[in-house]
Amino acid sequence: MSSPHLAVIGGGQLARMMQQAAIGLGVRIRLLAEDDNASAAQVISDTIVGDYTDLDTLREAVADSPVVTFDHEHVPPEHLRTLEAEGHVCRPGPAALAYAQDKALMRTKLATLGSPQPDFSVFDPVVDLGGVQNFADRVGGYPFVLKTTRGGYDGKGVWFINKESDAAAALASGSVLLAEAKVPFVRELSALVARSASGEVVAYPIAESVQRDGICHEVVSPAPDLDPTLAKEAQQLAINIAEQLGVTGILAVELFETPDRRIVVNELAMRPHNTGHWSIDGAVTSQFENHLRAVLDMPLGSTSPHRSWAVMVNILGGVVDDMESRRALVMAQDCEVKIHLYGKSVKPGRKVGHVTVCGDNFDDVVGRARAAARLFVEGDTHE
Ligand code: ADP
Repeated sequence: MSSPHLAVIGGGQLARMMQQAAIGLGVRIRLLAEDDNASAAQVISDTIVGDYTDLDTLREAVADSPVVTFDHEHVPPEHLRTLEAEGHVCRPGPAALAYAQDKALMRTKLATLGSPQPDFSVFDPVVDLGGVQNFADRVGGYPFVLKTTRGGYDGKGVWFINKESDAAAALASGSVLLAEAKVPFVRELSALVARSASGEVVAYPIAESVQRDGICHEVVSPAPDLDPTLAKEAQQLAINIAEQLGVTGILAVELFETPDRRIVVNELAMRPHNTGHWSIDGAVTSQFENHLRAVLDMPLGSTSPHRSWAVMVNILGGVVDDMESRRALVMAQDCEVKIHLYGKSVKPGRKVGHVTVCGDNFDDVVGRARAAARLFVEGDTHE
């Protein structure tokens, strides 16, 4: 097999969709997957199966790849620093990635950049027994939010504190905690940018994401009725963060929009992001293609949308076990729906695929995308 252009660590659906873009570009990916049936391992022939927390496994995976990138942010930073010291090129690099791996570091860094964000405090509950009360006093009582600084995802590791006793689970997690003022947002937005190794930057339209219980359900691009000045501000904020943090690849800045029409940063992701999946079918260049172009230091592609609206709805595991059994039904219902199945086994609430519909009539596009996703997961069809 010819040597790879790129090593990708992590075998989830993001790596799988990177491969989809890599095929067109003629980019050869070597994958390190957690098991041989992982979502991306099913579609990348040059796959090594192993544990990404083990340094020697990482060394084997990246051995003959000029560049290394990631499907997730969980590779231990000390291993990434070692790989760099041994001459490997990680994109994004460990210095940038640290801000996506650790929410406390991110908040502290964004404070130095003057980015809009909630009042916050970081404390170790083991040594600082008064941390919760001190923060409550500072922000004028409840509610507020506690988060584990590392390893949280899809709302796991986030606790909403409405009274003192709500903090028990967070305190019992044994983790250093980030306390944040609860932002009274009207909706969640996402600012997605790609930055290449030599510093070229492109921004996607600002999208709206609908989250329930910390899980992304639906994304609309562009965010409906967003003030154009605020949209520009959000794009510029993401560009500034990408530049100041030295991000290479896709950066997603998750934002809250407040009732008085301001934006506030929630968190950062340095990899293709669920809020950018619409771009596969809805933009000239998908976020996956631009991630590859950026980390391989190629010119970036246009982020222009094809149509007025793109709506992406996640297929979350429900009562139907076999997504493939529903595929033809969805196709028969609507021949313009774009289907993306991740080859993952169904578990309740697990992201197992997504659908996207693009068009010029907002209500029509939203309705059809939701109907297609429903058909994948609901029990009562006329099969
Ligand atoms: P994760 O890393 O699991 O995605 P987030 O930090 O994004 O966790 O939080 C999950 C969800 O919790 C967010 O999408 C948002 O809906 C809500 N949330 C998080 N932080 C705050 C906050 N400071 N104020 C209000 N809601 C919040």
